[in-house]
Amino acid sequence: MNNHPIRVTVWNEYRHEKVDDLVRQCYPAGIHEAIAEGLRPNQAFVVRTATLDEPEHGLTADVLANTDVLVWWGHMAHGDVKDEIVERVHARVMAGMGMVVLHSGHFSKIFKKLMGTSCDLKWREAGENERIWVVNPGHQIAQGLPEHIDLDEEEMYGEHFDIPAPDELVFVSWFKGGEVFRSGCTFTRGNGRIFYFRPGHETYQTYFNPLVRQVISNGVSWAAPIGGPSPVRGNAKPLEKLG
Ligand code: ZN
Repeated sequence: MNNHPIRVTVWNEYRHEKVDDLVRQCYPAGIHEAIAEGLRPNQAFVVRTATLDEPEHGLTADVLANTDVLVWWGHMAHGDVKDEIVERVHARVMAGMGMVVLHSGHFSKIFKKLMGTSCDLKWREAGENERIWVVNPGHQIAQGLPEHIDLDEEEMYGEHFDIPAPDELVFVSWFKGGEVFRSGCTFTRGNGRIFYFRPGHETYQTYFNPLVRQVISNGVSWAAPIGGPSPVRGNAKPLEKLG
């Protein structure tokens, strides 16, 4: 296991907050700061933030080389994320960096590339309540949680969610309007672990909810690299004398 702090980079496109009064009221310091604030009390984490409009989107080779887990929130500006940065993040995931992809990050270039499917889903903005059920109570990401988490107001996401079958399903959401959604899914790609977690529409203060913060914190802990061996591939000399 890790014997050094888990280095977390919280990435947010940080556009809604600049152009929409309601979003700015919900997240005066930006969605990234609300997420980072929820992670900082964990003594095992060292947390930094990065945003789209910084040089190289704040995701320089140096930042990514020093990131164990990347948390991703994006929505209105997925198309503005440069392909070369997506490739850089993807390569780090293959090499073992963890990712926690939140809410509308389902349509980000990096998540779609990692999944290989459209990642499309059903949605509705009607301020209805969401009940997030823990369906895998033995999973590390469920640590310390109650049986379910109630959010008074959220955007609805409904099935079908076009993702590959997750390695593990940790949460299923139910919405007042009747839809359900696989709202907590884990995947492995290369050496990297990926956790997708659904809630977090920009006009609700979801990332201040203590239980949502607990889930994201648990997700970061789970997704962190475990310090396994570096794979060696290609033509190989035998370890034993042959013949
Ligand atoms: Zn949304």
